[in-house]
Amino acid sequence: MTCPHCRESARCKGFKSRQLVSLFGPLEYSRHYYLCRHCHHGISPLDGVLGLRAHDLTPAADEVVCLSGLEDSFATAADTVLPRLAGLRVSESTVQRATEAAGERLAEAQHAGQTFGPSTPWAWHKDADGKTVGYVSVDATGVGQQGSRGAKAEGRMAYIGMIDNPVPEERPRWANPTAAKRPEWKARYVSQVRSLAELAEPLRRQASR
Ligand SMILES: [Zn+2]
Repeated sequence: MTCPHCRESARCKGFKSRQLVSLFGPLEYSRHYYLCRHCHHGISPLDGVLGLRAHDLTPAADEVVCLSGLEDSFATAADTVLPRLAGLRVSESTVQRATEAAGERLAEAQHAGQTFGPSTPWAWHKDADGKTVGYVSVDATGVGQQGSRGAKAEGRMAYIGMIDNPVPEERPRWANPTAAKRPEWKARYVSQVRSLAELAEPLRRQASR
């Protein structure tokens, strides 16, 4: 096969096994392994086909690990949440690497102009003048950071942008006894740790959806 790193030819060196953590527990599988004699990279094409990343988690386990990594500290996710919630036993550093890698993929996708979720037409609520009104708001929140080896590091500012069409105050749930539920608050958000000026473009794209 052609080496994806240097485009030279890589030779098949036979089968090599790899261990993964899946939602059903640890598993091991064998796949063809290629070695590039030019740049010495090892390549296993099946890993890419299966959607595996550098850390040894299946895609489903990766998703669960990343979700728990967002909810609390990486240590709490590894020691408490994942074993109890999903029977997953992974190290704190695995949670950190998986969650940070997911964050980087999200940032890249956002930077490349991707929006998430389908384009949705809104049934706009109207204001007192009978007009549809969209609000644009931005808020900032400080996010504590930790340097390498637990060293002190400067905090970063995350910006959260919102495009929304709030439910008018004079239309609470009890105004219409036949209504099964409160009218939906329409909103789309975008959040990032880039500069404030760089929030404009992704927020505009969300609004266009
Ligand atoms: Zn190579």
